Amino acid sequence: MKLIKIDHLGVAVNSIEGVKNFWTDILGLKLVGCETVAEQKVCTGFFPVGESEIELLESTAPDGPIAKYIEKKGEGIQHVAFRVENIEEALAELKQKGVRLIDEKPRIGAGGAKIAFLHPKATSGVLVELCERS
Ligand code: ZN
Repeated sequence: MKLIKIDHLGVAVNSIEGVKNFWTDILGLKLVGCETVAEQKVCTGFFPVGESEIELLESTAPDGPIAKYIEKKGEGIQHVAFRVENIEEALAELKQKGVRLIDEKPRIGAGGAKIAFLHPKATSGVLVELCERS
């Protein structure tokens, strides 16, 4: 399996609109796109920084995974996403090594990327996302 780089850090927030000024006006980053991923009940906003991005995540429903995360842990870094060359191969290798996965098969995330999550119990509490972009 080849990890290329940290693709993005996912940050759970109550409201993208409410915190956007910090990332743009204060840090000088650009919000390059907002997208709703209906299946995940989440609205995402991406701020590129160097080779990586910050992904703000706002829940679109009270029972969505981000709403539940914030309820439990408050706002903050929710996941780390690694860019991989081939996500199917990476998942097969992890499975073979006995790593617990949330997604056995990739699904389509924001920006049309193929994504899959590893189980935080397998990664010392860090929710790890694998991400392949073409
Ligand atoms: Zn992500």
